[in-house]
Amino acid sequence: MTSPSQHNATTFDLAVIGAGSAGFSAAITAAQSGAKVVLVGHGLIGGTCVNVGCVPSKALIRVAESLHLARSACRFDGISVQSQLDDWNAVRQQKNTLVDDLRQAKYEDLLPEYKNITYLPGKAAFAVDGTLLVDGATLPAKKIIIATGSHAAVPSIEGINDVAWLDSTAVFELKALPASMVIVGGGYIGCEMAQMLQRFGVAVTLVCRSHLLPNGEPEISSALREVFQSEGIRVECGLSYHDVQKTDEGGVCLRFERDGKRHAIKAQTLVLATGRNANTHGMGLEAAGIKLSANKAILVDDQMQTSRPGIYAAGDVTGRDQFVYMAAYGAKIAAKNAFGGQEVYDNATMPAVTFTDPQVASVGHTEASAERAGMRVKISVLPLNAVPRALAARDTRGLIKLIANAENNKLVGAHIMATEGGDTIQSATMALKAGMTTDELGATIFPYLTMVEGLKLAAQTFDKDVSKLSCCAG
Ligand SMILES: Cc1cc2nc3c(=O)[nH]c(=O)nc-3n(C[C@H](O)[C@H](O)[C@H](O)COP(=O)(O)OP(=O)(O)OC[C@H]3O[C@@H](n4cnc5c(N)ncnc54)[C@H](O)[C@@H]3O)c2cc1C
Repeated sequence: MTSPSQHNATTFDLAVIGAGSAGFSAAITAAQSGAKVVLVGHGLIGGTCVNVGCVPSKALIRVAESLHLARSACRFDGISVQSQLDDWNAVRQQKNTLVDDLRQAKYEDLLPEYKNITYLPGKAAFAVDGTLLVDGATLPAKKIIIATGSHAAVPSIEGINDVAWLDSTAVFELKALPASMVIVGGGYIGCEMAQMLQRFGVAVTLVCRSHLLPNGEPEISSALREVFQSEGIRVECGLSYHDVQKTDEGGVCLRFERDGKRHAIKAQTLVLATGRNANTHGMGLEAAGIKLSANKAILVDDQMQTSRPGIYAAGDVTGRDQFVYMAAYGAKIAAKNAFGGQEVYDNATMPAVTFTDPQVASVGHTEASAERAGMRVKISVLPLNAVPRALAARDTRGLIKLIANAENNKLVGAHIMATEGGDTIQSATMALKAGMTTDELGATIFPYLTMVEGLKLAAQTFDKDVSKLSCCAG
């Protein structure tokens, strides 16, 4: 670790701005090909995923899921199990230990392994002529990759600046859980937090303007809503926000409109989960000729280069595919292309998982996006009560929806709401990547009784009524 002034005389082959997942991926890729790299980091090393995103959220979700699994065990005859949250702070502390351990193992301990990566703590910005500055000092570098990540967006609701609110980072660090919460935003972070907190004993209301997981399949959105409501979460969709105010009791009151009628929800705590905005503010990007989108994310071409030659960007700061594996993937491409590569970013078979219970996982087109792309589609929807694994588990919440191109029968999208659907989706991803037809997927051998067998049954559902087939007869 060094200071900016020590580097004035050194010209690095590559400067990577942001020591999160994209930054590390870019720095390591370039270093492995022999480049002299400086990694500029502001804030906690490791960035969002390990510190405040994927790792803490999934750790806490697993705890809440364990509570729920025990409570729901009585669906099997002859057993009963009790479970309760005894000590939230012990849960939080155990999560923090995991975060600290993973940050150490996957980020801090890696730096000494790469002798040609210099870690430079500091805040980066650009001078108008495109010179890179770190805490005001010039940092000479032949190529630059910007990987500064994102932060929680604040929706423009009247009164939002006059009330206290939490983002996901603050929720995971609460010293005590409130009795009630209203969570604004039905995207994946809002849905994951709503179910987790309700299971921890918070009375949750989840509100959103359209419907849950709005970019996904409507059948899955409705099914997830039913699951949430069955667990006691109040779900309010299809509304427009009027305003938010403090209440006399120290909580918040959110007023909204639906179908011309005004409604109000009171809760102790307001949580915002309305998407994430790129960290570009105050970096002098536009003045330096680096174009931004309307919502201030960095625009890149399909080779991850910004509008200023020699400067690339990757990860959440590009405003698209805000998942850690896509951040790492895009950063790798940027690092290769910065030194003569010609690789193209391809997200056509990008899987995405929402870690609700059941999980919601998808890859490829939705029915609507395929139609928008001009495709004539055919679809298959298989309820989980047609999947033996789900029947044996006495848990038939969910469904599998497949979308195929009606011209050539090729699978173009798969959407799964099922226990561990996040694992099952990877088989669909392979099928899409391989360009399989629905017949080929339906004729593939899958093990009985697994959840992934549901993919085969869903593929067969295009032509057959699978309820008329004998066990494994497909
Ligand atoms: C609650 C939550 C749950 C999530 N769950 C998942 C999940 O389960 N799976 C998944 O794939 N993704 C998940 N994500 C998304 C994932 O965390 C992000 O897509 C990913 O971490 C983005 O990586 P990044 O490198 O682009 O940005 P970051 O990891 O945020 O790294 C950017 C770094 O740049 C630093 N920086 C900012 N400005 C400057 C500057 N001017 N100079 C120097 N450094 C700067 C920041 O401090 C930060 O350290 C989740 C996110 C959240 C918030």
